[in-house]
Amino acid sequence: MAKVIDGKAIADAMMNELAVRIESLKSDHRAPALAVVLVGSDAASEIYVRNKIRRCEQLGVRSIEHRLPETTQQSDLLGIITSLNNDEQIDGILVQMPLPTHIDEKRVLNAIRPDKDVDGFHPVNVGRLSLGEADAIAPCTPQGCVTLAKSVLGPDLSGKRVAIVGRSNIVGKPAAALFLAENCTVQMLHSKTESPQQLAAQADILVVAAGRAHLVDESWVKPGAVVIDVGINRVQQPTGSKLLGDVDFDSVTQVAAAVTPVPGGVGPMTIAYLLHNTFQCYLKSVG
Ligand code: NAD
Repeated sequence: MAKVIDGKAIADAMMNELAVRIESLKSDHRAPALAVVLVGSDAASEIYVRNKIRRCEQLGVRSIEHRLPETTQQSDLLGIITSLNNDEQIDGILVQMPLPTHIDEKRVLNAIRPDKDVDGFHPVNVGRLSLGEADAIAPCTPQGCVTLAKSVLGPDLSGKRVAIVGRSNIVGKPAAALFLAENCTVQMLHSKTESPQQLAAQADILVVAAGRAHLVDESWVKPGAVVIDVGINRVQQPTGSKLLGDVDFDSVTQVAAAVTPVPGGVGPMTIAYLLHNTFQCYLKSVG
């Protein structure tokens, strides 16, 4: 049976360490500050934002909330981002996605100052990450995937074969860049890939971010592999709604060496890296 990777415990340890570092800087500097912008009242977004803000408070990070109505005009949202960009007391800006359909998400993400882009979605940060530059702000979930793999395999992932299912800009592609930076051999699998199972089953580390509940069963997994399940799929079952990963946990656990659960695997790491990125921006800002 596979080891269950406890993402919550790893994220908690990371955040406790951050809290100590933030506390130690308190006497000489202002607290780090994260601005969170939520437009509309999407139920899942509300929960994500609430969790992020709660964590900020626990760590001593000041959170500044901008809750805007669904009808907010793009120009007004861009105006708020400009004022946050110019506010030297703000270290990070997070605009919760998805935005209402009348707002151009790309335009909004591109308006965030790259050195305050704690999600790592701005083209400047995407470019820096793909160039392997040290000052790139990398997206949170992919950083969590690398850390979870290292929690099992140790800090040196050099030479490991990694297969990533999903090629989105927020998970799959940046995860590929980060594993490549760890000297892994990376293969991207997506909806047009032929025989994805066979390719996935060659990987030492299998990252699944397809948004398809229980897509991956044991036939995709090399015996002894580490499986990182990014998927969060809310499905209706006779007993009510349930969160399912992209990985069929009960099947994969028969062959893998280690696997992340959903919930309690990648999810907590995403928030931990949001706080990590905010702290890195803060360090640059306060010198
Ligand atoms: P997306 O829809 O943008 O991309 C999905 C990708 O999966 C696409 O590239 C597509 O080609 C690929 N894909 C779809 N079906 C496939 C199949 N049958 N075989 C191979 N590839 C297939 O999704 P996303 O934004 O990258 O998110 C993926 C999942 O991760 C979602 O369930 C999302 O909710 C979850 N997610 C979780 C976190 C977290 O913190 N845990 C963060 C971000 C996203």
